[in-house]
Amino acid sequence: MIFDEKIKEYKLRFIKGVGETREKILNSLGIFSIEDLLLYFPSRYYDRTTVLAISEAKRVLNESLKEEVTFIGKINSVDKIYSSRRQYLLIYLIDKTSAIKVIFFESIHIFQKIFSKGMIVAFSGKITSDIDGEPVLIHPKFDILKGENEKFEENFRYTGIIVPHYSLRGISQSKTSSFGSHTLRTIIKNALPKFLGFLQETLPEYIIRKKHLMPLKSAIKNLHQPESCELLNRARYRMKFEEIFYFMILSALNRKMLKAYDENIKVRKAGERIKVLVKEILPFELTEDQKKVIREIYNDFKSGYPMNRLLQGDVGSGKTLIALITSLIAIENGLQVALMAPTEILATQHYRYFLNFSKNLDVSIGLLTSSTPASVREKYFEMLSSGELNILIGTHALIEEKVQFKNLGYVIIDEQHRFGVIQRSKLKLKSRNPHLLVITATPIPRTLALTLYSDLDLSFIRTMPKNRKIIKTHVITPDKKPSLYEFIRKEISKGNQAYIVFPLIEESEKLNLEDVLSNYIKLKNEIFTDIELGMIHGRMNSDEKDSVMKEFLNGKIMILISTSVIEVGIDNPNATIMVIEDAQRFGLSQLHQLRGRVGRSEKQSYCILISDIDIDNLSKDTFFYESEEKNIARERLKAIEQYADGFKIAEIDFKLRGPGDIFGTKQSGLPEFQFFDIFLDFELIESVRSLAFEIIEDDPELQKPENQIIKKIIQKKFSDKLFLSTIA
Ligand code: ADP
Ligand code: MG
Repeated sequence: MIFDEKIKEYKLRFIKGVGETREKILNSLGIFSIEDLLLYFPSRYYDRTTVLAISEAKRVLNESLKEEVTFIGKINSVDKIYSSRRQYLLIYLIDKTSAIKVIFFESIHIFQKIFSKGMIVAFSGKITSDIDGEPVLIHPKFDILKGENEKFEENFRYTGIIVPHYSLRGISQSKTSSFGSHTLRTIIKNALPKFLGFLQETLPEYIIRKKHLMPLKSAIKNLHQPESCELLNRARYRMKFEEIFYFMILSALNRKMLKAYDENIKVRKAGERIKVLVKEILPFELTEDQKKVIREIYNDFKSGYPMNRLLQGDVGSGKTLIALITSLIAIENGLQVALMAPTEILATQHYRYFLNFSKNLDVSIGLLTSSTPASVREKYFEMLSSGELNILIGTHALIEEKVQFKNLGYVIIDEQHRFGVIQRSKLKLKSRNPHLLVITATPIPRTLALTLYSDLDLSFIRTMPKNRKIIKTHVITPDKKPSLYEFIRKEISKGNQAYIVFPLIEESEKLNLEDVLSNYIKLKNEIFTDIELGMIHGRMNSDEKDSVMKEFLNGKIMILISTSVIEVGIDNPNATIMVIEDAQRFGLSQLHQLRGRVGRSEKQSYCILISDIDIDNLSKDTFFYESEEKNIARERLKAIEQYADGFKIAEIDFKLRGPGDIFGTKQSGLPEFQFFDIFLDFELIESVRSLAFEIIEDDPELQKPENQIIKKIIQKKFSDKLFLSTIA
């Protein structure tokens, strides 16, 4: 946001209602200047459509609506209750229509101080039922609406106002009783008329007109003092638009910089190797989607501009093969290839896969990891710089300085979110303009991909190879283990193999969870005495891991006991059973990845999730509510049992966790948006993205007069971004 410099002459203290004490409190909220204050936006609003009459609580409960509801009323009583089971604080909230119970189990003494009879309070939460089936709110969020200086219309629900709620994170709860959301409302109300004029518009006039956006000043005013729901929504829309717009402008600039024509990387032919591979070596047909993606990559290769492409496909959809085939094309054209994988196991597996399918194709391939012996390393370095080595596969060891290619033209990065953007660019820097393919098996919805990877082109594989059967997935409780073991035994007698995955390596006193080491011994000595078992976990060194993996792949080991180290990419088509112990401990995408280790051939495969969370029956003790964590775990287990499609799973996972948790916001390159919500506002993404990309296409250096605002904002707000040199 841009303010006229003159605003700096004013201090918080100049505002009516702000003295020394309140200035300090404002500071503790991160508000140090008038600018900060005007940009401290409400976190929620109460309006007539979201606030219910208390008499409606029963209906909401009966219809078992899951959404949060808000009640506004007067506190009629506050009592500490000593029941035989537990102490709690019981509040009765009343409005004109009825009364409802509000209960706090934790921090009773704090809440007892905050609430008192006669207060007007808004409570928001999910309605549950108490032992008698009556509606109750347990630990709701709250906002005290009637404070010391403020008159509040008690019959708010029947009037027309919208009340903004300012979150006061950062100040201790005992202070909130004197300084509340209502205090901030008053302070901002006093400040707005005087200082709104200092704001300067941040979007070009022609965009505001074309997209029917609310001008900045009215948007800020309506965010603090909404005149109606409609105006509030328009104000929010404008803010969302602006956030995603500038994000996309940055992406467009970034991408512009990546695109430089380079004769050296221009591919002219597909060549013979790929023909031989597809016609003579591969024991199967490529799927339509595989062919489509290979064509997309080939077209990029031929353009003479470096490719920047993300390949997304579910586990087992055949992405590695695409990496191999497109590498062969690059090699035919004299380019070297680097393939980076997140773990040693995976890098080794890719290496074997590449070797296996290119035996007679005259390709030299190297494997470089932290455990590659020095002599082999030296040899690789020589072969790389002479151009003799065509493909180098490895872990992050590839980005070491000593790794110097003669003519690196194609960089493939598998499972990108484990690396992060910085390593991606480090590997790319080993050459002037290599083609880049990022492969990820964490499917994400298209709109999210457009945002997370906004500087990349997208390829999707949606269809699986024809011969695949849906993996039968079941969640069971631990008491069913004996029959599970019988089932595993039967499958193994047919020559199939199994994984059993545990959340921990060794027993822990703190966590009551199953672990690899003790279960390995137990399973080996008591359950599967006549079957060959192997064990793999993160604390073994890579030679040990490697030899276990080999024995599992060649069928010497029939059951592999492991931690989630096998989560990504391991490919043993003969394994048909995946057992996951304490499955509630794993994330949803992680469960899906683990499940993807089986079902890799035409045989029927099974995924059995063991958990003491019973997904069909909520515990009878619901009055003493279940933790949110347990509820989310139950949702995860239900989802994995119900859905096979990774894109669907990903959607649910994002809803349960949010993208930041999955990628780590810092690593993902996704800024923290204040208004824009990647799930709710996805329909904005595509149109704003094309608008931003068109602007940069048309005016790459932002020289046109109508785009000066854009240039100014970018320089002011994003001056730390590398590529700004292009418009500086
Ligand atoms: P991903 O990397 O997408 O998880 P992979 O490339 O590892 O999948 O492929 C999984 C398995 O399927 C491999 O054994 C691979 O050789 C095989 N495969 C790949 N493409 C096909 C196809 N078109 N038809 C049958 N099997 C295929
Ligand atoms: Mg793979």
